Amino acid sequence: MEMRELVDILNRWAYEYYVLDDPSVPDREYDRLYDRLRELERETGVVLPDSPTRRVGGDPVKGFERHTHIARLYSLDKAVSEDEMNAFFTRVGKAGEATYTVEYKYDGLTVCLTYENGAFVRATTRGNGVEGEDVTAQVLTVLSFPLKISYRGTLEVRGEAIIRLSALQRYNEAHPEEPLKNARNAAAGAIRNLDPKVTKTRQPEILFYDINYMSEAPVSSQTEAMEFLRREGFKVFPYLRVCASPEEVLAAIDEIEIGRKSLDVLTDGAVIKVNEESIRSDMGATDKFPRWAIAYKFEAEEALATVERIVWQVGRTGKLTPLAEISPVELAGATVRRATLNNYGDLTRKDVKVHSQVLVRRSNEVIPEILGAVSHVEGSVPVEKPTVCPFCNSPIREVGANLFCTNEACPPRVVQKLTHYCSKNAADIEGMSEATLTLLYEKRGVRNFSDLYKLKEEDFAGLEGFKEKKISNLLGAIEKSKDIPLDRFLYAIGIEGIGRVAARDLAAFGSVSAVAALSFEELIAIEDVGEVTARSVLSFFADEANRKELDALCEAGVKPYVKARVSGGAFSGLNVVLTGTLAAMSRPEAQKRIEALGGVCQSAVSAKTSLVVAGEKAGSKLDKAKKLGVRVIGEEEFLSMLGELRQ
Ligand SMILES: [Zn+2]
Repeated sequence: MEMRELVDILNRWAYEYYVLDDPSVPDREYDRLYDRLRELERETGVVLPDSPTRRVGGDPVKGFERHTHIARLYSLDKAVSEDEMNAFFTRVGKAGEATYTVEYKYDGLTVCLTYENGAFVRATTRGNGVEGEDVTAQVLTVLSFPLKISYRGTLEVRGEAIIRLSALQRYNEAHPEEPLKNARNAAAGAIRNLDPKVTKTRQPEILFYDINYMSEAPVSSQTEAMEFLRREGFKVFPYLRVCASPEEVLAAIDEIEIGRKSLDVLTDGAVIKVNEESIRSDMGATDKFPRWAIAYKFEAEEALATVERIVWQVGRTGKLTPLAEISPVELAGATVRRATLNNYGDLTRKDVKVHSQVLVRRSNEVIPEILGAVSHVEGSVPVEKPTVCPFCNSPIREVGANLFCTNEACPPRVVQKLTHYCSKNAADIEGMSEATLTLLYEKRGVRNFSDLYKLKEEDFAGLEGFKEKKISNLLGAIEKSKDIPLDRFLYAIGIEGIGRVAARDLAAFGSVSAVAALSFEELIAIEDVGEVTARSVLSFFADEANRKELDALCEAGVKPYVKARVSGGAFSGLNVVLTGTLAAMSRPEAQKRIEALGGVCQSAVSAKTSLVVAGEKAGSKLDKAKKLGVRVIGEEEFLSMLGELRQ
């Protein structure tokens, strides 16, 4: 038999087996042809790009390469009550007459698969939504997706890598010495394993549920997207409800809540999306989430536990947070040993004492929370209110229900500040964990952000757990962080009240010194800055120590930059809003093209908007543009501005 023919037959059988769960031949027949293919490949030295032999995994990789997604992979806003769902329905109602889709929400690891010209090229994790890790070698061992598709454009599809509960059980029975804790961590651990062979032994699957990017002929609804995925041979979970009204959505959520208990896949909720792309694009997205979708989370599990002791933690603002160490309990598939309380006021209000029995709840947050005390025993000991900081003995300041250490140099507080500086959305120094920073604080006197840039190889020598490779990776990551976008820098330095959104607003002023020179009036004129935050910005830059530190960072070579705008492009100086569907390209593509020609894309029409590009089925944004007298152009004129049409 010809190689091409063998590959096609084997791929069809694998599709029947792994995607349709409906094999048409016995395993040994598959194995026989597979061996024949291997032999042919060895003889000829040729391996077709979609050969199933590519899926064995290959050699371990040294690390995961970073990869920037073509279109941002958003996470979803969450709702836990009917009230929150109703707020979502109201928001959608304002945008137009939408239908909704309701799907299961899987609890695994999100992955994104890229195809070019009909061939699978890459798999990445979601990461921070903008940038993920390349896990192609690992994902190749999964058999629930095709290597070859009929679609010829650039395509990114999105799925959830999961491990079936039955597969987890089988694995644990076979590996009693090292059982996997729960299905979610097992799935994430399998995909993010440097050795693809390990991935394969854990047998993850990927369930596909969305299209993230299509360069040509984009689908116009969620139902079309699912149909497309199914047609191209991706494994899709069979449940998808299309609902015409909020009542139908709520009924579908109830249906899922009952159905999920007998499922072989870990789920923690339902995902509700606006079906129509035209309404989706009108609704747009916030900084974090699309406005047109929401995850409804089912009530988390609760259990009783005994408080063994209370330890205090100090955050970067100096706030003291009580953390309860509790008798181990199994909650939602994980062993829980610690639970958090918000602050001292929370602790007294919930009547939590040492040795008391408390109700603990774990939803998807990292640390479970204590809901309240259920019973006390004779030996229950009330938690004493600290009068001085448990770490540095400095006086405590009480503000409402919160207690603060008043010492700026309080050790855990400094470590937390450094941890924030190094975090993903700040300076993004990969590998610089809280544990490492604690070591550097204690053993090497690291106190300021700028101290990080003075670290040399010998500073790590003798620190436990630091081998050559790890040290060079860390030093490399530190070096790389010198080149930092201004908004992330302004967020990293930890000005009180400045989150990522406000940092982006401030970055529009172009430089650190321009931000430092802003007056109170100029600050409160910024959309996301109120009076309290404005004062905190002023006092941050007025502080002598902060100014010295900024100089030190500058001297160390840290150079916050602002993305250069293209001048002279067709959209130079224009604030552009896209609405409706374009026939020639997807919205992210249009956005990229506008930005490449010097324009700025906005999500909503405002008085500052200079141009609205209206495609098919344009909705409320178009009305608003007309009301404000903003210039509106259609697709043809848009294409000619892009230089796509000859006049
Ligand atoms: Zn302290």
